[in-house]
Amino acid sequence: MATSPRQPASVGEVVEHGLCIGCGLCEALGPDRWKMTMTEEGRLRPAPLSDENPAADAAILAACPGVTAEATADGPEHDEVWGRYAHMGEAWADDPEIRFRAATGGVLTALGMHLLKSGKARFILHCAADPAHPVRSRWVMSETPEEVALRAGSRYGPSDTLAGLEAALTRNEPFAIIAKPCDAGAVRARAKADPRLDDLLVAVLVMVCGGASDLGKSWLLLDELGVTEDDVTLFRYRGFGNPGRARVETRDGRAYERTYDELWGDEAGWRIQTRCKLCPDAIGEAADIAAADIWPGAQPEGEDAGFNGVITRTSTGQRLMQAAVEAGDLVRGKDHTPRDYDHFQPHQVSKKRAMAARLRGLSRAGWPVYAHKGLRLDALDAGDEAEEQGAHDRALSGRFSEKLPRP
Ligand SMILES: Cc1cc2nc3c(=O)[nH]c(=O)nc-3n(C[C@H](O)[C@H](O)[C@H](O)COP(=O)(O)OP(=O)(O)OC[C@H]3O[C@@H](n4cnc5c(N)ncnc54)[C@H](O)[C@@H]3O)c2cc1C
Ligand code: SF4
Ligand code: SF4
Repeated sequence: MATSPRQPASVGEVVEHGLCIGCGLCEALGPDRWKMTMTEEGRLRPAPLSDENPAADAAILAACPGVTAEATADGPEHDEVWGRYAHMGEAWADDPEIRFRAATGGVLTALGMHLLKSGKARFILHCAADPAHPVRSRWVMSETPEEVALRAGSRYGPSDTLAGLEAALTRNEPFAIIAKPCDAGAVRARAKADPRLDDLLVAVLVMVCGGASDLGKSWLLLDELGVTEDDVTLFRYRGFGNPGRARVETRDGRAYERTYDELWGDEAGWRIQTRCKLCPDAIGEAADIAAADIWPGAQPEGEDAGFNGVITRTSTGQRLMQAAVEAGDLVRGKDHTPRDYDHFQPHQVSKKRAMAARLRGLSRAGWPVYAHKGLRLDALDAGDEAEEQGAHDRALSGRFSEKLPRP
């Protein structure tokens, strides 16, 4: 029997049903009610500082990625899987040092640096390794191109960039955000209630995202190396090459490396968070620009110089990309089509096609789900009964359940 979907009615319900990705918006909008906290499993989740009050949290719930997801891209081209866009093509940072340090080809870093150098933005809100606990990530505001460059690279664990959103807005200066696609969705939803975002936020840049592991994935690597988290002075997931190696350095001078394949070869050990398995938009449909890897079949074929696939999704994104190329900050390569992206990111295609069935399975289990708009989940529905039953059974067996942490 079909069951109408219902949305979570409180932050607690979002977290307890595995719909929280730990974006940090709770702490930004309700700092006296929520504190982002690392759970025992290695997930960033909001811990309540007072009794829950859904009415007081209405602004959070209106933008939370566990409650709502919407495509806002308005580019002139349209593809049923890849959404609206203005252009798809290869690019990389012109500066070879940036291209080398960055996760892929340094497009996100070069765009952030360009925004600061050109004066279009005064700072970039993004995330970086926490200097006190380099295995973990924390939100930062980079004020100079050099700071953006030092903070290049993908952090595959939890990140709560939006915990810095209110601090960024309070500065009353133009800024840009580099974050995950779910964060972009939350920012756009928040902009409906906070006009400061329309005035001050000059660009939203994201990576195409295969999912964020909990920190347990990184702790497992440390266990394997016989290193405690307190010993670590550097934890790099990739970069310094494309894809580059994961590298761990310790206070007593030890250094360890793992290839991308050694770290990610076994999909069973990825420890991807539940919201990622239920993600309706991991391809940046609320961003101005999304940057991706463009390996055939999503598998690196070895080390290369770093080539991003870039999807410009709005006129703002298209103008920014053009300006960065004209200023000599970015180099553009060949054009791509949505069918090239099917080849680069087959997991994103199957995810889009599976999502309606997963959400149906959850609703059938009495689970709350997010509302979605413009993401074409129903049109792309492959009607996979195994996906529906799988999501239903996982929900009922408690595999998607989480506890609200205590601060
Ligand atoms: C969790 C995760 C999963 C990914 N999965 C895929 C995938 O399936 N397919 C694919 O094509 N690409 C994926 N990527 C993206 C890829 O690793 C590169 O980030 C992307 O190609 C951009 O490369 P770049 O060289 O332009 O980035 P860089 O120039 O190195 O810039 C990266 C920027 O992203 C920010 N950042 C890094 N990690 C995070 C994070 N966890 N949360 C928020 N902001 C962050 C940094 O602050 C930095 O500003 C993933 C990235 C992450 C973080
Ligand atoms: S996804 Fe973000 S806004 Fe929603 S509950 Fe988690 S931290 Fe809060
Ligand atoms: S897969 Fe989706 S929910 Fe998970 S981190 Fe990426 S964009 Fe966010």
